[in-house]
Amino acid sequence: MVQAAYNFPRGFLWGTATSAYQVEGNNKNNTWWDWEQENGRILNKDKSGSACDWWGGRWKEDLDRADESHHNAHRLSIEWSRVQPSPDRWDEIALDRYREIIRSIVERKMVPIVTLHHFSNPIWIEEFGGWENQDMPDLFTKYTLKVVDAFKEYVNMWVTINEPNVLAANGYLLGLFPPGKSDISAGLRVMTNMVKAHAGAYHAIHNLQSNARVGTAVQFRGFLPARNWFAGDMVATKILNSLFNDFFPVAFSRGILNFPIWKKRISNASNTLDFLGINYYTREYVSFNLLNLKELFTKRTFSPEDELSDSGSIANVPNFLFKAIKWGLKFKRPIIITENGVENRNDDLRRKYIIQHIHQVWRAVNFNFPVKGYLYWTLVDNFEWERGWTQRFGLWELDPDTQTRRKRPSADLFAEICQGNCLTSELVTKYSPELLAHLFPG
Ligand code: BGC
Repeated sequence: MVQAAYNFPRGFLWGTATSAYQVEGNNKNNTWWDWEQENGRILNKDKSGSACDWWGGRWKEDLDRADESHHNAHRLSIEWSRVQPSPDRWDEIALDRYREIIRSIVERKMVPIVTLHHFSNPIWIEEFGGWENQDMPDLFTKYTLKVVDAFKEYVNMWVTINEPNVLAANGYLLGLFPPGKSDISAGLRVMTNMVKAHAGAYHAIHNLQSNARVGTAVQFRGFLPARNWFAGDMVATKILNSLFNDFFPVAFSRGILNFPIWKKRISNASNTLDFLGINYYTREYVSFNLLNLKELFTKRTFSPEDELSDSGSIANVPNFLFKAIKWGLKFKRPIIITENGVENRNDDLRRKYIIQHIHQVWRAVNFNFPVKGYLYWTLVDNFEWERGWTQRFGLWELDPDTQTRRKRPSADLFAEICQGNCLTSELVTKYSPELLAHLFPG
């Protein structure tokens, strides 16, 4: 049978995303390490331990896996607490180690995309008040300068802060991440400091590197009112869209911080996005709920028809990835899907999820929307923050005790997509035949 194909443009970036704390292991000088030791913080009292043992050297074999799977890009992050273990000390040995990792990504002909901050802080930063401290933007800018200067030979794509929206919500509203607060005014202060930190980093990077491309990776969640006829749900949805989805990209493009009842201008933050990274996982329905102050008076649920991931945290709603991209167009920047994935141990849903989501990316590309790449979250099962080891997002399965990896079928599926730079009817037949009639009718 002649195969039909959804083709992607030449040079499209394909790969996976990882983050330092989740893969390196033994990040002891870090707020998350202490947090893990506290009772009730992590599901099952799981510990990151040696994680995927990247710091112990297993980054090599995992990057080989990515390379052999025809990935042409890899997104990774740098752990601030390793590079600057105390306010007055830079650890050149740690920088060398990162340089070796990044160089070998380049040698494997993958484009490195480096995130400077992915959720975790050095302990000394938190002792200074963390993101609430008004000096944080300066401290972050200094750290950024050090890192960018060290790796600029190999890297020109930088993500300043991963999911500032999730970090603010989980750390300062929901209390799920350190420092575990539920304090709206602290949250708003933190959001302001993150905008300033991003802006400071953006300008510092451009001063050092003229061809730098600096962006953010914001998590876009699809929000829909649970009851279309109820104004409470509609207003709650609007507020979530504006505070969670829009806030940071608006601040980074227009320099305006759109808080619910007031605005603030930070002029050096305007035009500080060279690309928009979108992390998309799922959509949810929003109901107004007066009792739930922590979630800004909302309750968020899935529909009974939704196809859910193992723990029920992600509904498979691919068309919202298309909507996320359409939403991203208003910022008038190139777009990269910097994360997309699903937790699914036995890999049946993952295969489907990947095919359906990549099909939506193709639709966007076909409309000439400026989508430049797609990074699956993640390469190998990793430590999933407050959910410990309970959620398995990897293309490879990991047993953290023995460090054994086992390839899931999705790894081959994704490899074939990366290799061909297309999604074909043959691949759909092979990995998720139930989708064939829908994706390739006729
Ligand atoms: C984060 C990752 C995380 C993933 C899956 C994203 O919010 O950037 O660090 O592991 O979601 O939970």
